[in-house]
Amino acid sequence: MLLEIRDINTYYGNIHALKGVSLHVDQGEIVAVIGGNGAGKTTLLNTISGVMHSRTGEILFKDQPISRLSPDKVVRVGISQVPERRQVFSTLNVLDNLLLGAYLRHGSVGKDQIRRDLDFVFEIFPILKGRQKQMGGTLSGGEQQMLAVGRGLMAKPELLLLDEPSLGLAPLLVREIFRVAGELREHGTTILLVEQNARAALHLADRGYVMETGEVVLEGRSEELLGDERVQEAYLGAVGS
Ligand code: ATP
Repeated sequence: MLLEIRDINTYYGNIHALKGVSLHVDQGEIVAVIGGNGAGKTTLLNTISGVMHSRTGEILFKDQPISRLSPDKVVRVGISQVPERRQVFSTLNVLDNLLLGAYLRHGSVGKDQIRRDLDFVFEIFPILKGRQKQMGGTLSGGEQQMLAVGRGLMAKPELLLLDEPSLGLAPLLVREIFRVAGELREHGTTILLVEQNARAALHLADRGYVMETGEVVLEGRSEELLGDERVQEAYLGAVGS
């Protein structure tokens, strides 16, 4: 198991946001966590990335406990989070946004390696290549999402955490982002993906978890979840589609 979460409980003050959540991600998988507003999906990713800490329970990455690490230490062990709503640096250009993603690695890797990683990001997102000098804030929503994912990749993560990458994007761009996620899996990146767009997420993912009000209520292989009546009714709109 690459990531194992055992029975974590996370709070905002008195609000019990994650209630005994357990899940795991194997090497090379894409795992989707689906659920509606307020289900606890972002809280889950923030607890893995060290932005928040669980009060009880354990998180193991490659069998090592990471639950008490600060966010920069979590990046160093090989986990990179692409936050919801993109959050690119609007007054930095595309190239500098990408280089920031690699900053924790400066010193440990040479310029040539960073250059190769940039080339990889430009291969995955060709549109960013021609826009290296453009300010982050002037990119379209879809381009900003690509830049946010590209920045996450510059940390060379073994596990990429994607928080609602499809949010606010037109259907064609949603398809593009999900295509890229599939391509990254082929390059050996493991992905934990949090999404309200259950259909797109489950079509891409190998396995999935369904969260409701802070708890995992269902889990299974993606095709099982896509065929599950409860999932169809609550998250996929029309039954049988
Ligand atoms: P969405 O898809 O709407 O982003 P989510 O599944 O990511 O939802 P979370 O953002 O993780 O849900 O929220 C889980 C619960 O924790 C919700 O009840 C939410 O109101 C609460 N919560 C989130 N952030 C805070 C905060 N800063 N302070 C207090 N409560 C919070």
